[in-house]
Amino acid sequence: GSKYTYEDTIAAIVTSLGGEDGSVAIVRLSGSSAVSIAGQLFRPARKSRDGTPWEPKSHRVEYGTVVDSSGAIIDEVLVVPMLAPRSYTREDVVELQCHGGSICVHRVLQLCLQSGARLAKPGEFSLRAFLNGRLDLSQAENVAELISAKTSVAAEAALAGLQGGLSSLVHDLRAECLELLGDIEARLDFEDEMPVLEQSDVISRVDSMLDRLQGALGTARRGELLQAGLQVAIVGRPNVGKSSLLNAWSQSSKAIVTDIPGTTRDVVEADVVVGGIRVNLLDTAGIRDTDDIVESIGVQRSKAAAVGADVVLMVVSASDGWTGEDNKIFQEMWGDHAYTEAGDRASRNGSHDFSKFGGAPSVLVINKVDTASPTSVILPDYVSKAFSAIVPTCAPQSMGINNLEAALLKLVGIGEVTSGGRQWAANQCRGRPSSFYVPVRLWRG
Ligand code: GDP
Ligand code: ZN
Repeated sequence: GSKYTYEDTIAAIVTSLGGEDGSVAIVRLSGSSAVSIAGQLFRPARKSRDGTPWEPKSHRVEYGTVVDSSGAIIDEVLVVPMLAPRSYTREDVVELQCHGGSICVHRVLQLCLQSGARLAKPGEFSLRAFLNGRLDLSQAENVAELISAKTSVAAEAALAGLQGGLSSLVHDLRAECLELLGDIEARLDFEDEMPVLEQSDVISRVDSMLDRLQGALGTARRGELLQAGLQVAIVGRPNVGKSSLLNAWSQSSKAIVTDIPGTTRDVVEADVVVGGIRVNLLDTAGIRDTDDIVESIGVQRSKAAAVGADVVLMVVSASDGWTGEDNKIFQEMWGDHAYTEAGDRASRNGSHDFSKFGGAPSVLVINKVDTASPTSVILPDYVSKAFSAIVPTCAPQSMGINNLEAALLKLVGIGEVTSGGRQWAANQCRGRPSSFYVPVRLWRG
């Protein structure tokens, strides 16, 4: 049975709501009254001969109807009872598979609530699964991640985590620690009777544990990227092709492209998926009609866009070469007194060793290489040193975008992430849904 018993039985629609209607929608009941509540609504098609109430057989699908208190049929359903402890929550669970479309499923849920169930809070099924020992904390987090995954690679990482990747490592390491402790402690008392414990042996055992622990921590950055995505700011003076680059990359026309300098008024965003990671591109707007020279070349906008960005792409034009205005933007952003928050953030993530300029992790994009060779752009030494990569592009022809993506992945320290790798990722426990924090408090409580 379950370690925790709850007075209340919870119910919720567990299939997605909003968007296109699916063909099936599921109401899940969990708790000690799940079976009796379902029994009030459900009329099996195959009636018991002696008229006794519905008796669920665990893990057997049964066909029938849901009726309201007056006996009117609300929907045809398939019912799946999963009796404790062989269920997701380790409580009695009954799932009612209704017809898709929000009317049927909402009426069935309403009937469940009228019959004594309470509406489940977000994450509450997983919370009960956790409290009853069905999931450990990292698995519970992976459930949340699996549900919210935006790319298939992210979903696979969450699934691998759910199947115990991190949990089993922690379990193994704990066992090894205890064994080592035992070996050492035994010798404190019975030194003479026991074989000598070689210091080098102890050290190598600790080192091996440390290696595996660091390996797990190394996945955290990747996990964070898979979950949160990567913010990439595209900066540079007006007319070098920032918007064209964003357009070509996202293959949309979200960004307004024009040949009048500085007509993109606002910051424009587009999402692309690079190596399984969601990348949010931010195009900075140029500014026209201003007497302020710094403003007019887009310095302030470039700096503003870099706030919170994980990576900054500075775009220059091969046809113009490295201009004074480019240099001004560069100095403002990567110079000695440059804004460094993005850089700090990246350093804290531990994945970068970019420039000694203290700026953001950055790539220089030499665009318009159809008009002039990228080698014709003469970069001052301190400039080429400041960038982790220099990538030639021709935005209207979508040329160089692949190289740009490769540079980006290398820059954030994850290299090629391939789909189907079945790698789990450790969780840094930031910004998780609050319902998953509750167990921690109970734990330590
Ligand atoms: P932004 O102000 O930096 O966003 O620049 P835009 O993307 O608005 O581009 C300015 C002008 O340069 C437009 O006329 C584009 O068509 C043109 N342009 C952009 N990229 C290229 C390129 O790679 N080659 C050429 N020849 N023209 C480009
Ligand atoms: Zn633009």
